Amino acid sequence: MKKKSNLYSDKYIVKHLTTSVIQHTVKNFQFIKGFPASNTWIVYSNNDAILVDSGFGDRTSFLSLKNYINNYLPNIKIHYVLLTHHHSDHSSGARQLSEIFNSKVLIHKQEKKMLKTRTESDDIPVRYRKKRQKWEDEKVQTPISKYIEHGYQINIGNLNIEALHTPGHTLGSICYLFRNERILFSGDTILGYDTVSISAPPNGDMNLYLKSLKKLNRYKLKYIAPGHGNVITNPKQKINKLILHRLKREKQIIDLIDQGHKLDSDLLDAIYPNLQKGLKNSALNQIRSHLHRLKVLNKIQLKIDQNKWKVI
Ligand SMILES: [Zn+2]
Ligand SMILES: [Zn+2]
Repeated sequence: MKKKSNLYSDKYIVKHLTTSVIQHTVKNFQFIKGFPASNTWIVYSNNDAILVDSGFGDRTSFLSLKNYINNYLPNIKIHYVLLTHHHSDHSSGARQLSEIFNSKVLIHKQEKKMLKTRTESDDIPVRYRKKRQKWEDEKVQTPISKYIEHGYQINIGNLNIEALHTPGHTLGSICYLFRNERILFSGDTILGYDTVSISAPPNGDMNLYLKSLKKLNRYKLKYIAPGHGNVITNPKQKINKLILHRLKREKQIIDLIDQGHKLDSDLLDAIYPNLQKGLKNSALNQIRSHLHRLKVLNKIQLKIDQNKWKVI
C-alpha cells in the first residue's frame, strides 16, 4: 500500500510513519520555545485502531484530533486510548476521546494517584496558564477502564501491542511495543528532542530511569515513536546516548560535591549558570534525582529538610 501524504496546518501536523502508524501533533506551547508539543500516535489495521496518548484536552486541540480522525479515517473503530503516563499533555484528551469514540482508556497502576491529582505549576508564563488549567481539569477526570502492569497485552484484530513498565520519568511510565512492526511508543521516557526531565521520588526516579533504558536496549526495535518530537530511526544508538548523558552528568555532580558544592542550590548554579526562570524547578528536581540515585547507590549521604537537600 502506498503511504498517504503528510498534512500540515497552522493547528496540527500529521505524518505517516508506516502504513499503519500515524503521528498527530497539535501545535501547542508547552515549556520553552522550540519544545515540540506532545504526539498522539494512531495505530490501525483494517478498521481496528488504538491511540497511544490522547493529546491535549482543551477544546481546540481535542477537535483538531477528532476532526482529523473523522475526516481521514472515518471507518476506524478506536478500541483503546493507551496512556504512557499521567502528565496532562499526554492524558487530558482521553476523557473526551473515550466518550466520542467509545474507547477504553488504560494506564499503569502506579499512575493512579498522580492522575487524580492536579499539578500546579507557577513558573509557566501567565498567558498559557489558563490552557494548562483546563488540561489539569480534564486530566483528573480521565475515566480509566483498567490499571495495567508490565507485560499486559493488547490484541485487537491484527494489532499486537505489549505494555513495558519503564519507570523513571514518572513511576508508572509505560512504553508500548507495537510488535507487528517493532515500533516502541516511548512516551516521555525517550524523546525525539533533547533529554527529558527526571524528578526525584515520588515524582520520578533517576536510578529506575537508567535501569529502564537498559531494559529497553535489550529489545530489537525498528523505530522509537516518542511522546514529543520526531521518530527515532536509530533506537540503540539513541538509548546508549541517553544513558551516557546521564552518567556524564552524574560524574559532574560527584566532582562538584568533591569540590565543596554540598547544597542542591549550589549544584544548580554550578551546572546551569544561565538558566531561564521557567526551567529552574525542573533543573533543581533533576539534580535532586541524581542525588537520590547516588544515595541509593551508597555513594553519598543526604540531609533533606525544608526543601533543602544537603550532602553530608
Ligand atoms: Zn511527562
Ligand atoms: Zn510530555
